[in-house]
Amino acid sequence: MEITKTLTTNPKPEPDWQNLGFGNVTTDHMFIMDYSEGRGWHDARIIPYGPLSLDPAAIVLHYGVEVFEGLKAYHTEDDKILLFRPQANARRINNSSKRLCIPELPEEYFVQAIKELVDIDRNWTPKLPDTSLYIRPLIIATEAQLGVKRADEYKFIVILSPVGAYYAEGLNPVKIFVEDEYVRSVRGGTGFTKCGGNYAAGLAAQYKAKQMGYSQVLWLDGAERKYIDEVGTMNVMFKINGEVITPELSGGTILPGVTRDSVLQLLQTWGIPTCERRITLEELHQAAQNNTLEEAFGTGTAAVISPIGMLNIHGQEIAVSNGQIGQLTQKIYDALTDIQWGRVADTLGWTVEV
Ligand SMILES: *Cc1c(COP(=O)(O)O)cnc(C)c1O
Repeated sequence: MEITKTLTTNPKPEPDWQNLGFGNVTTDHMFIMDYSEGRGWHDARIIPYGPLSLDPAAIVLHYGVEVFEGLKAYHTEDDKILLFRPQANARRINNSSKRLCIPELPEEYFVQAIKELVDIDRNWTPKLPDTSLYIRPLIIATEAQLGVKRADEYKFIVILSPVGAYYAEGLNPVKIFVEDEYVRSVRGGTGFTKCGGNYAAGLAAQYKAKQMGYSQVLWLDGAERKYIDEVGTMNVMFKINGEVITPELSGGTILPGVTRDSVLQLLQTWGIPTCERRITLEELHQAAQNNTLEEAFGTGTAAVISPIGMLNIHGQEIAVSNGQIGQLTQKIYDALTDIQWGRVADTLGWTVEV
């Protein structure tokens, strides 16, 4: 794929590297590529970051035909820039696209677009400890058409955002509200995709939990509100009686996280038993009560690992690991971030240098 490049003549001021937060700052350039029926994907270009021009009848604005991804680039101590498993995100965006009738994007285009954009904006990859460059690829249906239909025109876009340490004072256990009114996904739905509509539909529950002082919701299955799906925008894992259990993916209601998969692989190399299966809220509640629930944590690109210190189950607050960070939780966080920031040898072949 040939990418034409137009560099900005008006670079943005440097951000405040100490106080980046998450998603507040974007870089100087963006990648865009068009799709039209018959021509396929074409006109790959890197141009100065700026607003898009869209027809108000564009399908994405009415029917939410959009999918996205999220991954990061990490600045190593010896000045390299590493991506973490970008091919996994390339595969996943196509799985999401397929569900929304969006045409497939060749995986090598996805990875090349990211590599070349990150390279052009490499000075935007922050160097302070635990900071990184968040990469947000997305595909939108741009065809102007008010009828509900499979679109004939799309844009694939990549933007970048330098982000701060997720936990300013190190790993921090969070309080989780078990949501038993709203649901996130159902069998046969779009739960396994990263499509914008899923997150729009999750906002009301997220806002409700925030107002009550919880940082995330724990989603139950949409049909019976009995099985555990995810926490917020993370996958969830529980250490019960020495075994790490995580909800299985087969129902299609759960987002198949790259972090989830990486944690499972690490645990397997360490010889720690893991199990992917359905797990009921009742089982979790029981385990918490008879002290076999040893640790609980969320997994996702943004926070990597998010220890769970407390669960509100039907109004009852239940401490996990005495509200502390579990030992294994900390070990997983350290191991994964050591690989991501290139502090240890990448024996699993997960990092890709830019
Ligand atoms: C992105 C996401 C995850 C985590 O996926 P990673 O690839 O690990 O970042 C989990 N659940 C939901 C709903 C998500 O959107």
